[in-house]
Amino acid sequence: MRLFYDIIADKRDGKVLSEEDITHFLNSYLSGDLSDYQMSSMLMAIFFNKLNDMELKVWVERMLFSGEVLDFSDITGPVVDKHSTGGVGDKISIPLAPLLAELGFSVPMISGRGLGHTGGTLDKLESIPGFSVNIPKEQFCKMVRTIGVSLIGQTPEIAPLDKKLYALRDVTATVESIPLIASSIMSKKLAEGIRGLILDIKVGNGAFMKNREQATELAKTMKAIGERFNTKVDVLFTDMNEPLGYSIGNSLEIAESINVMKGVYVPQVTELTLRMAAILLVSFKMAESIEAGEKIASAKLSSGLAAERFKKIIEMQGGNPAVVDDPGLLPKASKRKDIFANESGYINRMDALSFGKALVQLGGGRIKKEDSIDPSVGFIFSKKAGDYAKKGDLVYSIYYNEDFRLRNSLEYLARSVSFCQERAEKKNVILGVL
Ligand code: URA
Repeated sequence: MRLFYDIIADKRDGKVLSEEDITHFLNSYLSGDLSDYQMSSMLMAIFFNKLNDMELKVWVERMLFSGEVLDFSDITGPVVDKHSTGGVGDKISIPLAPLLAELGFSVPMISGRGLGHTGGTLDKLESIPGFSVNIPKEQFCKMVRTIGVSLIGQTPEIAPLDKKLYALRDVTATVESIPLIASSIMSKKLAEGIRGLILDIKVGNGAFMKNREQATELAKTMKAIGERFNTKVDVLFTDMNEPLGYSIGNSLEIAESINVMKGVYVPQVTELTLRMAAILLVSFKMAESIEAGEKIASAKLSSGLAAERFKKIIEMQGGNPAVVDDPGLLPKASKRKDIFANESGYINRMDALSFGKALVQLGGGRIKKEDSIDPSVGFIFSKKAGDYAKKGDLVYSIYYNEDFRLRNSLEYLARSVSFCQERAEKKNVILGVL
């Protein structure tokens, strides 16, 4: 075995690491024989010098097999999941998971919490009274086999090396590295025992990937990893310059998702939900075209079956399924402040990053890891980018509980919406596929 020092120096100098070096390095970190400071140096060296295809494959393999890989090979239909790189108002997993189950997919969905200004599926689900995202692995697998879907957080058994590495990257400025992001996400997703994955790569100022080139490089890297591990990866690039849909905030996003599941057409949210379902239907030869797939998926939403499936998920994970029929049972903020247009014109910008940060200030996201979340706070939009507003029209409402939080939030919102006089085009939320 080579010295850790020599392995780090090789990556620092841009050399290619052998399979043996990577395996030794990662196994030693997992067992505690390699220190955080040596791993930090390696992560920074990878940040600058990347990993080639062979190195990345070994890196992912070590992360994936650092824990348990679930086995759903007894399920005859396709076992799939969805992953988003994160955004503001991005609630698509919530209507999509029960819809996919209704369409005949099995969905062992392991999601994350909010990260920085971006929201997390787990935090949203926990706004449903009683809902647990920490059910035992056996119950999770049983749900996938019986009702086709379960929605939980990362368990200690799944890719423990990623958990350790991610915590270190978070404090050593090594998160924004394409091989490290791709290996982190893919190791967790592959450990779910899936055969197909739809990746929603968000692009824009409210996303981690600010431009299409970065997004494409990340997408290609993740797709290549999937193919190496026999998992089909489809990629959709979507806009994250404005918040997605008409609600942001944990319980408000659950309410909006329930509407989508009941067949209400919510611009952007319904569109993305249907497109992702259609891509998977085509990928697994269950629809002939995207258009046909969207029709099949849309019928499931209109029939209310996806909403019924969501009730079952909630019930089996300890929550109150009555929220589906009566979203008024979700946590509600005590106060509301309406924001009106201070001039007439077309809205040409609604800044996703500002709204994401403003939500954190309201208490809807975390400033420190250990912070608890106020599920009730958030924003409901009456206008979106591309809409015309007359001076005095309601643009959005802020739902909040504490005045000091509202004041902090308003600081981030001061320049979050801008107007122009020429007709502003409504931009398509779907930017393209890989
Ligand atoms: N999400 C992850 O799970 N890992 C990353 O590295 C970045 C986002």
